[in-house]
Amino acid sequence: MIQLIRGFRDILPGEVELWLEIERIARELLENFGFKEIRIPIMEKTELFARSIGEDTDIVEKEMYTFPDRKGDLITLRPEATASVVRAYIQHRLFAKDPVQKFYTIGPMFRRERPQKGRYRQFYQINAEIFGIESGLADVQLIFLLVNLFTRLKVADLEAHINSLGCPKCRPNFKAALQKFLMSISDQLCSDCIRRRDRNPLRVLDCKVPTCREAMTEAPSILEYLCSECRRDFEVVKNSLQKLKIPYVVDKRLVRGLDYYTRATFEIQTRSLGAQNAIAGGGRYDGLVKELGGPEIPATGFAIGFDRLAEVSGLKASEFYQKPHVFVAALGKKSGSFAFEWICDLGLKGIRADMDFSEKSLKAQMKRADRLGASYVLMVGENELEQGTAILRNMQTKEQVSIPFDDIVKKLKEAVR
Ligand code: AMP
Repeated sequence: MIQLIRGFRDILPGEVELWLEIERIARELLENFGFKEIRIPIMEKTELFARSIGEDTDIVEKEMYTFPDRKGDLITLRPEATASVVRAYIQHRLFAKDPVQKFYTIGPMFRRERPQKGRYRQFYQINAEIFGIESGLADVQLIFLLVNLFTRLKVADLEAHINSLGCPKCRPNFKAALQKFLMSISDQLCSDCIRRRDRNPLRVLDCKVPTCREAMTEAPSILEYLCSECRRDFEVVKNSLQKLKIPYVVDKRLVRGLDYYTRATFEIQTRSLGAQNAIAGGGRYDGLVKELGGPEIPATGFAIGFDRLAEVSGLKASEFYQKPHVFVAALGKKSGSFAFEWICDLGLKGIRADMDFSEKSLKAQMKRADRLGASYVLMVGENELEQGTAILRNMQTKEQVSIPFDDIVKKLKEAVR
């Protein structure tokens, strides 16, 4: 038997209802906050991700699904959504009319990471991006939206972690200080971090290897190197979060794994997830639009890990599972063909209707109706056909009433309302 690819997963009925409900609530909240949906392709030219995410990131170095297509052009299954949204923003000149735009998108991402609990090679994200707003208030609005979304979805023990990554003006000073520190602890770093030390030292803060993490506890904090504008921006973020009563922790080691982030950066964590404790991450990427060939336009955004969110949400799929309103139990061929017409008609009229297609005994059909959790059973046999009526049984109260064929849709509509 052919099994699915390692690290990939099926989301089956019984689980998918929760996903739909999460998506419904997320869409509603995002739309209320002024975000418009954008749909982007799941493949892009490899170059787009290499340029936007950064050549020496884990994603680009080790995790992308990159293939030559039949003509030999390199294409990549998207490992994240921001690069594509920015590409679309630039390609369609969406900034020309109004640089301020808010987008969201929901869909699968692909990273060839080591599969483990909570980590998949195809996973899903809900992404939101805000273009054209320089103020830290845009970042605060994103954090506010996330915390409120997760609260609505009954995620327990939420914690917002924030940091500032500075800007191209002040970050070089921090980089130099960090590099000096890294030289002093080189013997404790993994081989990847030794390479990062010279090329992109910030990335060492992000390394997951325990010995590197241990060695980095005494690393300098970027917050001490911020220029006055970045410092002011970070104050705005912190004060506004306080005003909105969003509890936060300043986490000097929080650096996003991607090159284009600047200033405010954040993660929403929950203590109920164990090691993979971030449900969402995001922050400002003021440099990316220009880097990808657009004008100089600031931007900020987030990515929610949908798989993890579904795992920690206190909502249960069973609450949203759609059972049939009515199961039609027909005895005999002729009744069966009536039943078939009814279920087709009922389905069109918004009543979830089902039947058995194999002429089983009434007992077997009732059993199936019960197993499906139907609210009503509509019974029809020889006698009913003669009289032009069917028997409607309420499966909860066991009450039965006889209804003329012509009234079936009307009666059921009243019953399931
Ligand atoms: P990132 O795009 O790396 O900032 O990730 C944003 C969020 O996506 C994380 O906080 C996780 O919740 C989720 N995520 C990232 N990688 C994976 C993965 N391999 N499997 C499941 N969820 C993931």
